[in-house]
Amino acid sequence: MLTVYSIPALESNYFWLLQPVPGEPDAYILDPGDAQPVMDCLHQHQLRLAGIIITHHHWDHTDGIDELLAHFPVPVYGPDSRRIPQVTHTLQDGDTLELPSLRLEVLAVPGHTLDHLAYLYTANQHTASQPAKLFCGDSLFAGGCGRMFEGQPEQMLASLNKLAALPEDTLVYCSHEYTLANLQFAVQVEPDNKALTERLQTVQQIRQQHLSTLPSTIAIERRTNPFLRCHLPAIKGAAEQHIGSKLTSDASVFAAIRRWKDQA
Ligand SMILES: [Zn+2]
Repeated sequence: MLTVYSIPALESNYFWLLQPVPGEPDAYILDPGDAQPVMDCLHQHQLRLAGIIITHHHWDHTDGIDELLAHFPVPVYGPDSRRIPQVTHTLQDGDTLELPSLRLEVLAVPGHTLDHLAYLYTANQHTASQPAKLFCGDSLFAGGCGRMFEGQPEQMLASLNKLAALPEDTLVYCSHEYTLANLQFAVQVEPDNKALTERLQTVQQIRQQHLSTLPSTIAIERRTNPFLRCHLPAIKGAAEQHIGSKLTSDASVFAAIRRWKDQA
């Protein structure tokens, strides 16, 4: 049974620490943008770093790698990118990352960056009652998605649709606590979505108590995240009204909403 520890760090990041077997000290850190909070979490739970897993090259996902490697000379798994020279084991779409007691499927999700990977943990026969867990970096966010820094709209929408097609109970562990701002934007796009307005209320209460809104689920995202709903008439209509012209494809709807959010 996989245990996931949440490490809130930097301004709005979460680093996820994965402990594959309860009671055993080996743990893997996902996207350490800073070393100290990871060291503190390892110490607190009496864990030992066994590997580092990276979704993409941005500094807030990678700046802690060197200091962690100075303490723990462990493998670094991640995309084949010259911008992450510390990666020792490169991965690409369709690969399976086989670690002792931990198996992650690798999904390429370009758009936020071109080198962006997501990792999917699926239950095996011993853990069949556990839902899948998705570690998706800055591609899909709770209630939103990452900024499109490097990719094209078609490409980023295809990445998001790939994630949206995962089983509905899949838990979504993204890398930032952006949920409240994302949902405040989402209700501008889709004010008549009851599931969305209810989610916004719930998230407002959670954030008033300074608690984490993660993980989300694919089911919740499909019902309330405008970037997974670009094929629906309500989203298309809102995007068209916002830009004042007709849109002819889901990708153009996605691009219009992404720009709208960037300017909001
Ligand atoms: Zn990023």
